[in-house]
Amino acid sequence: MPLYEYSCHACGSAFERRLSFSNRLQAQACPKCDETETELLMSAPARPGVTAGGQAASVCPSTGQSCGCPMPGMN
Ligand SMILES: [Zn+2]
Repeated sequence: MPLYEYSCHACGSAFERRLSFSNRLQAQACPKCDETETELLMSAPARPGVTAGGQAASVCPSTGQSCGCPMPGMN
C-alpha cells in the first residue's frame, strides 16, 4: 500500500501512514497528540536528481497518475 504523509493541525507534527488509496482521506489520529485534525499532504517528496531531468513522470500504480507517493518495492 502507498505511504501517505499527514500534517497535524493540533500540534504541527507530521507523520506517515500506509493506507489503501480509498482510505487515505479518512481522518488519521496524530501519533503525538491523538487529535484527528490532520491533513493529507499531497506534495511530492523531494527526490534530488530525479525531478530535474524530466524523468519524474513515473506513474503510481495505485492512483494511475504521478502522485508522488513512494512506489512499492522502491524502499
Ligand atoms: Zn498532533
